[in-house]
Amino acid sequence: MEKIPVAILGASGTVGQRLVSILYKHPWFEPVALCASERSVGKPYAEAVKWKLQTPIPLAAANKTVQSCLPVQEAVLAFSALDADVAYDIEESWAKSGKLVVSNTKCHRMRSNIPLIIPELNASHLSLISKQAYPAGGAIVTNPNCSTIGLAMALKPLHDAFGIKAASVVTMQAASGAGYPGVSFMDLLDNVIPYIPGEEEKLESEPKKILGQLAEDGASIKFADFAMSAACHRVPVMNGHLEAVSVLLEKKANKEEIIEAWLAMDADTDGLKLPSSPRRPLAYDDKPERPQPRYDRMAGNGMTVSIGRLRPCAILGWKFELLSHNTLRGGAGGTVLLAELCVAKGLLSARVPAKSAELMLI
Ligand code: NAP
Repeated sequence: MEKIPVAILGASGTVGQRLVSILYKHPWFEPVALCASERSVGKPYAEAVKWKLQTPIPLAAANKTVQSCLPVQEAVLAFSALDADVAYDIEESWAKSGKLVVSNTKCHRMRSNIPLIIPELNASHLSLISKQAYPAGGAIVTNPNCSTIGLAMALKPLHDAFGIKAASVVTMQAASGAGYPGVSFMDLLDNVIPYIPGEEEKLESEPKKILGQLAEDGASIKFADFAMSAACHRVPVMNGHLEAVSVLLEKKANKEEIIEAWLAMDADTDGLKLPSSPRRPLAYDDKPERPQPRYDRMAGNGMTVSIGRLRPCAILGWKFELLSHNTLRGGAGGTVLLAELCVAKGLLSARVPAKSAELMLI
């Protein structure tokens, strides 16, 4: 079966190498370009990357020469895991040359006509693409911040079933969330850093866009209306963001009803048979000491959000803990699932080889 040719922008980074490891064995996509900064251009990928995964570099990637981030004719889709300082213009240049850009970066997320998508929650927001003015079918779709993803996935079923008036989150975020080399060993060991630049703003705004509704004219999102407060911390854990959440619901709900809302969540991906969909997007474990990064981050191949410790909160009504893998569900895995959703929704149908189009009808 002919696969869809894709580029990986920022292929040498923390999220980029996760993309490489997923996409070189993906049934629908085939990487044709690995792109990074001038520091890496011209080198074999194995030399350019500081590979940090436990699985080896895919053989086909290891010898591939790293390219610049200029648009590549052959690729119809670009996965972006670029440093946010340079991503805005590079992602635009790919969209302007008719490519679908699926981005991990913060740069375009909050623009009114850019979909900010968690595939299980708000697939309908993809229709914003029709309001983008990129020529020749180019478009940008985005994946939320790595901490937003777990939070929004836990809040959405509660918002649908009971309404949310207010929520508060305290995050304990893994070191890999800062990219490589990230926060220095001397700063993080034996320590917790109570500040991650820009993170609290993202957690206080992105969930409201994701849980929002398409405006009547279909040109933007009417944000969900609830108060949201975030406090973010960097902790000496390699992978997996733990979040302590408190929530004030509009309608009364008991513990069983809340857990039922999580476990019975109707996902927009149900029935689509996307290769990266976990069997359960949300899992609940009632053991008092769970979830924990070391034991729960790989739930559902790193794509399941683990929730636990639902208990009364004296201030907001209910509180709970959640854990999600920052570079899988919160990064590369989430972006690949989003690209699969775009394929399943026919967003690439005009641009891919005929045999790949057949594959999309699966
Ligand atoms: P990273 O490890 O620092 O990797 C950054 C990538 O960007 C590298 O491939 C780097 O290439 C490339 N790059 C840097 N400057 C460039 C330039 N001037 N031109 C072209 N490419 C350039 O960062 P990361 O953690 O993977 O994060 C990548 C993006 O995903 C960020 O926007 C981040 O906010 C977002 N994100 C990160 C996580 C996470 O958990 N880490 C999760 C979700 C989203 P070289 O190696 O050649 O320098």
